[in-house]
Amino acid sequence: MTSFVHRGQITKVVFGSGTRNLVAAEADALGCRRVLVLCTPGRTDQAEEISDLLGPAVVGTFAEAAPHTPVDVTARAVDHVRAVRADSVLAVGGGSTIGLGKAIALRTGLPQLALPTTYAGSEMTPILGETEDGRKTTRRLPEVLLRTVVYDVDLTLALPTAVSVVSGVNAMAHAVESLYAQDRDPVALLMAGEAIDALTRALPAIVRSPDDAEARADALYGAWLAGTCLGTVGMALHHKVCHVLGGTFGLPHAETHTVVLPHVVAYNAPAAPEAVARIRRALPGEDTGAALFGFAERLGAPTGLRDLGMPESGIERAAELIVRDGYWNPRPVDRDAARDLLARAWAGEPPHTPPGGGTTHTGHRTSTGAHHA
Ligand code: NAD
Repeated sequence: MTSFVHRGQITKVVFGSGTRNLVAAEADALGCRRVLVLCTPGRTDQAEEISDLLGPAVVGTFAEAAPHTPVDVTARAVDHVRAVRADSVLAVGGGSTIGLGKAIALRTGLPQLALPTTYAGSEMTPILGETEDGRKTTRRLPEVLLRTVVYDVDLTLALPTAVSVVSGVNAMAHAVESLYAQDRDPVALLMAGEAIDALTRALPAIVRSPDDAEARADALYGAWLAGTCLGTVGMALHHKVCHVLGGTFGLPHAETHTVVLPHVVAYNAPAAPEAVARIRRALPGEDTGAALFGFAERLGAPTGLRDLGMPESGIERAAELIVRDGYWNPRPVDRDAARDLLARAWAGEPPHTPPGGGTTHTGHRTSTGAHHA
């Protein structure tokens, strides 16, 4: 008999095409009468289009969202919220914009809604990553969960193909690590498998035809499921590696996930046979790490950390940071293993499964705590 704990989600999800037209009603249903729209500096046109749909319920746009949620931007945003007496925030954008909404909610207690435009999945998680003085800290805080998420496939049609690919593989990474998460549960496993199926179907179709609405819907559906997984179970080595690389070298988020994922899957494979078997249903092949590497390569994604701006001299430091803090992983990770994995990922070489690491579903913890994002 399997024993498990499943954490349900409180976020209302509206999914479809043209659903942005329902945002005003969804805001109204939450009692929001003074909505502040959030976006990144380059996305003000889209934010204005959404503001028009909100009509008199909108009190303005704050267009300074930035990657990794810098706390100085949040401080300005909170001042703005107070100045315009906003009673809610609506994030229109990807993980950066949604992160700003969460940071505002944490400081003000205001309800948040989102119209996600990438596949990062942050809208479905209670995870907030913030940066201050060049240091990123990540916390799981139930109070930052969104009230309503409106997925409108139409808003993703213009997401550039290259961004779509890495953003989609970023979502796949959430699902993959959920398959072997220490606290995985039957619902998370179903969602993770379905997410991997949808994203592996959708991404090649999007590369062939970026305005294929069915493929876009499939990708967004997969991203929703993968984000939900990220929000409900703990992550492991892959998210730890990406967190260290993003925080230490400022590497781009989704691209880093895309490069690292095949290497971590190859490393963890001997200790996570059920996860590997589930991934194989979507990506056939004896060697699942190699299958993921080939998948990303065929989609034109970057394969080497050196191409993302990581210095070779940073490998040793990153290996040290990866093993220093505690987090759970199905296969033990020591500094040599982390260094070898990083060296291959840095050079863009195919992944490698080091010998050993046999089947263990009790897993391994370097010290304490599950890793978040
Ligand atoms: P992003 O939000 O930074 O967006 C990337 C770029 O694409 C931005 O310049 C944005 O303006 C642009 N863009 C967004 N949607 C577009 C569209 N439809 N068409 C054209 N351009 C568009 O990137 P992201 O990958 O979505 O998010 C990354 C951030 O999210 C990181 O800071 C990461 O740490 C965070 N994140 C957090 C969680 C969580 O659970 N807390 C989960 C995943 C990612």
